[in-house]
Amino acid sequence: MIKSINDVITLNNGVKIPQHGFGVYLIKEEEEGYNSINKALEVGYRSFDTAQLYENEKLLGKILSESGVKRSDLFITTKVADFNQGYDGTLRSVEQSLKDLKLDQIDLLLIHWPSKKHFFETWNALEKLYDEKLVRAIGVSNYEIHHLEELSSKSAIKPVINQVECHTYLTQEPLKDYLKDQSIAFEAWSPLGRGAILNDNVINKIANKYDKSIAQIVIRWHLQKGNIVIPKSSTPSRIEENANVYDFNLADDEIKVIDSLNKNQRNGNAPDDVYLKI
Ligand code: NAD
Repeated sequence: MIKSINDVITLNNGVKIPQHGFGVYLIKEEEEGYNSINKALEVGYRSFDTAQLYENEKLLGKILSESGVKRSDLFITTKVADFNQGYDGTLRSVEQSLKDLKLDQIDLLLIHWPSKKHFFETWNALEKLYDEKLVRAIGVSNYEIHHLEELSSKSAIKPVINQVECHTYLTQEPLKDYLKDQSIAFEAWSPLGRGAILNDNVINKIANKYDKSIAQIVIRWHLQKGNIVIPKSSTPSRIEENANVYDFNLADDEIKVIDSLNKNQRNGNAPDDVYLKI
């Protein structure tokens, strides 16, 4: 059972990732960045999830490098944007990400969305970056089972992780079962459904029992289910709240009740729609 925000999951190449990280999507302004990222560090977060698309790699790199936290204690994920896909575009853009993040090595590099056009070239570029030790682990995001099958048919290295939309209204069980079989870790983006799942009456009852907020119950549900989770907030009190989920345990029947709220409801794009467009 996960006990603290420092607990890690071992990926299929031996690299360890904190199970509970901090997402920085939409944190672009300097003051907001300092307030939220420093607050996240203060309450114990060491894993940060950014992307080329978020236009905040430079800000994140600056704040983390000034923070005084040892590089080896941090875990930084970034993602190759759709417009940088292809072999050369990926290599060039990751060189820039390394500079912006002020890193010699990225901990985890993901392909942000599957692209039919650049499917293997982008992955081959990630494999090269991994071989050259510019990244410690490579993975994908927003891949469905058929994308993973296609990738495994012609690639040398298996992704360590698939980061996909997942919350209480989109529990992703079939994809999770497949990933487990393949030893690919499961990471949940929009773990709080961008706020859209936070008015649920069923979870509210469980929240009242533990004297916790709905957001805390949902994060704890993810953690007990083994999901890697990266909730985002730029409000310091919520950042603290979202980290404060280690003093209670949900019972198995409560986890099942939350599981049953699934309605396969996406807030973001469906991977196959993006796949055919980029
Ligand atoms: P999220 O589910 O983490 O929700 C964030 C929003 O929920 C906040 O903006 C706030 O409005 C609300 N919130 C957060 N904590 C709260 C609390 N304690 N009480 C009440 N409301 C609260 O959504 P997200 O930002 O979309 O996802 C998290 C991270 O996942 C992102 O920051 C990003 O790093 C990553 N992500 C990845 C992809 C991808 O395609 N790979 C897509 C979206 C997000």
